[in-house]
Amino acid sequence: MPSMPAEVHDLGVTEMAAGIADGSLSARALVDHHLARIETHDAHLHGFLHVDVAGARAQADRIDRARAAGKPLAPLAGVPIAVKDNMCTRTMPTTCASRMLAGYQPPYDAHVVECLAAAGAVILGKTNLDEFAMGSSTDNSAFGPTHNPWDLTRSPGGSSGGSASSVAARLSAAALGSDTGGSVRQPAAFCGLTAIKPTYGRVSRYGLVAFASSLDQVGPIARSARDAGRVLSAIAGYDRRDATSIDRPGEDFTASCGEAIRGVRVGVLAGAALEQCDPEMQASFKAGVQRLQDLGCQLVDVKLPHMGHGIAVYYLVAPAEASSNLARFDGMRYGMRKPSGDLRQTYAQTRADGFGTEVKRRIMLGTYALSSGYYDAFYLKAQRVRTLIRNDYEAAFAKCDVIASPTTPRPAFEIGAMHDDPLAMYLEDIFVLPPSLAGLPAVATPCGITRSGLPLGMQLTGSALSEAKLVQVADAFERDLAFDSLPPGLGRASEGA
Ligand code: GLN
Repeated sequence: MPSMPAEVHDLGVTEMAAGIADGSLSARALVDHHLARIETHDAHLHGFLHVDVAGARAQADRIDRARAAGKPLAPLAGVPIAVKDNMCTRTMPTTCASRMLAGYQPPYDAHVVECLAAAGAVILGKTNLDEFAMGSSTDNSAFGPTHNPWDLTRSPGGSSGGSASSVAARLSAAALGSDTGGSVRQPAAFCGLTAIKPTYGRVSRYGLVAFASSLDQVGPIARSARDAGRVLSAIAGYDRRDATSIDRPGEDFTASCGEAIRGVRVGVLAGAALEQCDPEMQASFKAGVQRLQDLGCQLVDVKLPHMGHGIAVYYLVAPAEASSNLARFDGMRYGMRKPSGDLRQTYAQTRADGFGTEVKRRIMLGTYALSSGYYDAFYLKAQRVRTLIRNDYEAAFAKCDVIASPTTPRPAFEIGAMHDDPLAMYLEDIFVLPPSLAGLPAVATPCGITRSGLPLGMQLTGSALSEAKLVQVADAFERDLAFDSLPPGLGRASEGA
């Protein structure tokens, strides 16, 4: 049995895969190490809703046997990865953190889960989220909130908060989240990580429980752009089961990692949204932009005149689509209740009991926006402004290759801080919503830390299908910053498992 380095969980996806391939790491030892860390640390983080001990070990053993037999290994062979609990898994429950789906086990795997298996990854379990991915805090989980490893009183962000928490705490090497309007990028920013929201259509949505179908994309969260790019390379690609899947051959999104970014034109977002950010966020963003310039990038001022309407547009379009998508949870087909007696009664009661407050709020908002008499005034208008936002980007990308902005206006807030003020929570999404509405790829990468020790993030948005460029720029930016992604509470000296 090969020996384990002292802090094997600090290795990135790339190094873990290389260690397993060259025999210096055993997949089984690596997975057992992570399972032990989950046991120790997840009791207070609550990032996981389900841990698949037997399944993870069986997959790791298969990888070790394949290597021993001299078979070629797939790109993520033996790498422990966590999956947000709104992606269907045949061998694990899929709850969307909702009472509505408690105990539901799908009869099939999501496309991205199949891809991870084909790439040899070891899926550790399913991670916590805001119910049906609606929220920015993970507080809206029916099974209780997840804690931020940087400060346990704070939120890891959301809705993919469990995935981000698990990666930051080194309970997994990387994780899949879903991003409808920021849900991989904002948690990455709050937890000092890197996440990629791919171009709409780049990753198949087959088996991702639908929230807002014209926005939903699965994206990786990892501790570096290179690692996130590597996971994205495994899950991206055409799938005929998703009608919006882009038909393109596979791509290695890390191909340009390590290359200089001299000459890249970076559009710097100016305007009101930036001025409303926390002063430390503003300072960190400015310093980040300066560093991009020092790395040889050419700075260009850009404006997205309709960006300010992004929140209003998103919070009409996403609830409208959600109200339609969630109609299927009727107590007959999935989860909770089986029909008995009056079906209408069953339907109403199941939805009253099964959905939490935020999900109900979205269903009501969406139903209202779609109802006859209001459709033109709200839904149609929102779709028109969405087109204006898309046009703004098109004009901006005539002048630059990537657009830099903060990922969030502030660092991680306290758990429950905005529980009674949903509008305040929606406003936090100001920077992450416009790329989603325009279907564009965006990367969130660490850009600094507050005086009180909370990570801050920068978002880089690119034109359609420019993920490789975004990964290249984020990789150069990260290597220059040398951000230490290890939360202090999990310090190396005091390490338990
Ligand atoms: N925060 C946004 C919302 O509440 C985005 C959620 C997401 O991307 N899943 O809808």
